[in-house]
Amino acid sequence: MEESTDRPTKKKVVAVVGGGLVGALNACFFAKRGFDVKVFETREDIRQAKIVKGRSINLALSHRGRQALNHVGMEDKIVSQGIPMHARMIHSLSGKQSPIPYGKKGQYILSVDRSNLNKELLTAAETYPNTKLNFDHKLQDWRAETGLMTFVRSDGSEEQIKADLIVGCDGAFSAIRKQFLRRSRFNYSQTYIPHGYMELTIPPINGEFSMKPNYLHIWPRNTFMMIALPNTDKTFTCTLFMPFDEFEKITTGDEVIEFFQKYFPDTIPLIGVDALKRDYFHLPAQAMVSVKCSPYHIGDTCVLMGDAAHAVVPFYGQGMNAGFEDCIVFDEILDQFNDDFSVVLPEYTRVRVPDDHAIADLAMYNYVEKTC
Ligand code: FAD
Repeated sequence: MEESTDRPTKKKVVAVVGGGLVGALNACFFAKRGFDVKVFETREDIRQAKIVKGRSINLALSHRGRQALNHVGMEDKIVSQGIPMHARMIHSLSGKQSPIPYGKKGQYILSVDRSNLNKELLTAAETYPNTKLNFDHKLQDWRAETGLMTFVRSDGSEEQIKADLIVGCDGAFSAIRKQFLRRSRFNYSQTYIPHGYMELTIPPINGEFSMKPNYLHIWPRNTFMMIALPNTDKTFTCTLFMPFDEFEKITTGDEVIEFFQKYFPDTIPLIGVDALKRDYFHLPAQAMVSVKCSPYHIGDTCVLMGDAAHAVVPFYGQGMNAGFEDCIVFDEILDQFNDDFSVVLPEYTRVRVPDDHAIADLAMYNYVEKTC
């Protein structure tokens, strides 16, 4: 029998663990190269879910993120669904607003809806016939020696799957990374900052944005800070960053209003007194963690990307963007070394660790600068 002329490496099974922003985009990158791609996501399919749990409602997409989307033909679509933000709009205590541009004229970052972006990327991944999305699959354990992964489903059943390459895109509390921690010469650090964050909404007024939409609005107040990013439904999502002990001091609706009157008076009519009193207690403030580690790979079987490799505090707006850039960098190294994982993985660690650590440091620097 004649031997197949197909490049055998293209048939390798790549398991992407985590179908969040970076996992879904990465699935497109691997599928485009012809690998047999399987995505495993612990949540149900967010495209069918009534409520999508997760972190921030919207995010700032910048140049490095857009470049990665461009590689898989998604840039125009996502950009058309985002809102350009040309400048930061600084709100002083007196209510004065002063713009500070992000760059030269015409340059901007985009406010994009996290859940919509994730849905679009999952749909894009699914259009490749060599990709299968597996929801309700929570990675419980895996073996570095064999590449064998164990998943549990919500009905308690277990499934075991083997892959040639496991790509850990399962976020800041990565289950994939746990195996790395058991190994010698793996460096790891995790820092929780004293601040938490809470999201509030500024609704439209008469069907229109209640503030200028093409800005990232910022209320800097020493140890506190609030930001607001526009959404396509004409609302703004505000994120209040504040030390946890300050959040905890406020225990009644009247105290919320008192606090806002003192620090963010111009936002009270925009958010609304009743909404403020209610929404402040809707969910507890969320923690923020910075994770640094190295190496990002084990042998030729596993690699970490996105927050699983480098969760950063959000003050630089680059967590997702850096995770998207991970996908391009890995793709370029696959090109360079002809998909040979035994060379690609160590090279990825060599090239990528310093850059991702730099992003983590810059984010932490911006945190200190803005809030401490
Ligand atoms: P995640 O988004 O965390 O996705 C991980 C996925 O893995 C999830 O779907 C999860 O369900 C799944 N998963 C977890 N465990 C398992 C398991 N055991 N088995 C299977 N699946 C699993 N970044 C920006 O670039 N710009 C911004 O403006 C910005 N703003 C932010 C604001 C806030 C308040 C916060 C907290 C973060 C912000 N970020 C921003 C950072 C950004 O949210 C993250 O960097 C990004 O979500 C990382 O994507 P990811 O896919 O690596 O991880």
